[in-house]
Amino acid sequence: MANLKYDHIVVRYGELSTKGKNRKEFVRQLFHNIKKRLADYPKLDYQVQHDGLFIKLNGEDYLKIKDDLKQVFGYAYFAGAIISSLDIEEIKETALTIATMKEHRTFKVATKRNDKSYPLRSDDINRAVAGHILSHSDLKVDVHNPDLKIYISIKHDGAYIMDEKVKGLGGYPTGINGRSMLMLSGGIDSPVAGFLTMKRGLKIECIHFASMPYTSAQALEKVKTLAKKLSVYQEDIILHIIPFTELQLAIYDNCDESYAITIMRRMMYRIADELCKRRKIKTITNGESIGQVASQTPESISVIAKVSDTLILRPVCMYDKLEIIEIAKMIDTFETSILPYEDCCTIFDPKNPVTKPKEDRVLHYEAKFDYQSLVNACVENDQIVKLSYRDQEEDIF
Ligand code: ATP
Ligand code: MG
Repeated sequence: MANLKYDHIVVRYGELSTKGKNRKEFVRQLFHNIKKRLADYPKLDYQVQHDGLFIKLNGEDYLKIKDDLKQVFGYAYFAGAIISSLDIEEIKETALTIATMKEHRTFKVATKRNDKSYPLRSDDINRAVAGHILSHSDLKVDVHNPDLKIYISIKHDGAYIMDEKVKGLGGYPTGINGRSMLMLSGGIDSPVAGFLTMKRGLKIECIHFASMPYTSAQALEKVKTLAKKLSVYQEDIILHIIPFTELQLAIYDNCDESYAITIMRRMMYRIADELCKRRKIKTITNGESIGQVASQTPESISVIAKVSDTLILRPVCMYDKLEIIEIAKMIDTFETSILPYEDCCTIFDPKNPVTKPKEDRVLHYEAKFDYQSLVNACVENDQIVKLSYRDQEEDIF
């Protein structure tokens, strides 16, 4: 590829623009998230303006930054830009530089005047710039389907000249809507649920129920790897590892096998609920999808969820498995999720799990043992680790 000469990146807010009074806060969070994600590029200079975030490259590598910036939620698109003075001769030259940076055959120029006091109208600028490119390159004009679109934005402090617009992930800046506790198994669905939750502006913490020694150290490593992969969208992730074995064994000692999964999942919710209260987290997220397995029929989900009064978010509830897999591939969790390590559900896999559990039977089994002490012990023995795609794991308790 020809040498890219961009000196700026322009990030346009998009969905944020409609947010009225909260807009300031959104822009602040977006700016904070972008700055953290691009911390590896110390020479960048940032300027927050009402219509976008302007980043001066100061020699940093645009192509590398581009990949990192694509992993931040909350903006519509960004573009590499060269900023010229408002002198039309310099605008023409700069546009020609942009036009010849990459291989193209056809082009079109589209100008927008943010500064209406500029003496030339948009059409005049389009014509002047296109004429200059036509006479100094082999490019031809195609107004309907050009290979290259050159965008010129006339602002009071200069002309911003851009070519490609790189679409962002959309959504809201992560963190703007508080936090959610993601129930993270080693499967395909829950990392995708986590991604979609972060996209809605919620920062996630994760809770994982581990059944050592029935589940292996590798199974836990897999969950940590998934959490690290999710951390690219929010810098780092707190993972709560809950020792679940004793409670699980008590369930199997006291309950009919067909009800074991229903009751086990109620215990998971009880623990997640308590942890949310302790950490002042307002929602639980999980990867449940209607009809996918016996515990995810509408009847099962409602009997299971009754034990929690924290709001439960189920981002993939209505998705087909194939749609979930597509996102898992896009966020690079799929290959990890399909590694064949057992999880706590596959270890105690009952032959005929009930698909329409009756609440009175559930309560009958639960009354047979002191589950509350075991739930409390799980919460007390929570092992907390902070994980980041950037560094080694760190125990914080
Ligand atoms: P996944 O692909 O995410 O594992 P699944 O289709 O296997 O989902 P289940 O095993 O029934 O479904 O679990 C439903 C949801 O419950 C998971 O998506 C996850 O959010 C949560 N969950 C299940 N097992 C665990 C676990 N060991 N630790 C934490 N959360 C869990
Ligand atoms: Mg699972």
